Amino acid sequence: MYKIDHISMDADVECPVCGEKLGNFETKNGPGARVTLDFREVDNFYSRCTKCNSIIEFSLKNPVEADDRKKLTVDSYQKKSVIY
Ligand SMILES: [Zn+2]
Repeated sequence: MYKIDHISMDADVECPVCGEKLGNFETKNGPGARVTLDFREVDNFYSRCTKCNSIIEFSLKNPVEADDRKKLTVDSYQKKSVIY
């Protein structure tokens, strides 16, 4: 069982499969202490769409220096739906 942390997201992000607004972002890249991290602090996070049940994974497209992380937007992340 993975330990997860929660991700705070300050932008509207739509499910690439059905267009529903995504919420409840989580990550396995954090300390695993069920803390809430800003999405810019991690390279990977994900959300399960409440409408179509797709898992949407977000992964940072290009590596960034720590000082540049605050400039990241959700568009800096590759969005991929994963079928299980
Ligand atoms: Zn969806």
